[in-house]
Amino acid sequence: MQITDQKAVTIHYTLKDGEGTVVDTSRGREPLSYLHGGGNIVPGLEKALGGKEVGDTIQVTLAPEEGYGVRDEGNVRNVPLRKISVDGKKVTAGSTCQIRTADGAQMALVTAVKGDYATVDLNHPLAGMRLDFEVEVMSIRDATPEELTHGHVHGPGDHHG
Ligand code: ZN
Repeated sequence: MQITDQKAVTIHYTLKDGEGTVVDTSRGREPLSYLHGGGNIVPGLEKALGGKEVGDTIQVTLAPEEGYGVRDEGNVRNVPLRKISVDGKKVTAGSTCQIRTADGAQMALVTAVKGDYATVDLNHPLAGMRLDFEVEVMSIRDATPEELTHGHVHGPGDHHG
């Protein structure tokens, strides 16, 4: 069976940044499940996995545009400290926080604190980065009608229990 749209796929992956540092890996935990064609994973990786079979290993390098997007300096903002929540801890540069925006709560990185204001970066931490993925295809099956309706794969630990 090959990976095509509407297949439920599990993969093991290791993600390195442009300098070869491991940023994220599924090795040592459960493989990642995703719905192919559902936009669950970054576009360049989804494209590279099309047509692959169980046991195939791929290495793919993605430009920021095919990964987590380019950095948008408009996403760096000054926010009053009272609008930030960091689980009751003191906000310092390097803290990850949640801020309320017009689109709802969003994760952001605090890059500086001055007086009653913090500078926060709402860009994805991997935005603007070249991504080197190494991926092994672990399993492929047809997605269920319910999974197709939801646009994601169900299994142990999903939002339905
Ligand atoms: Zn669901």
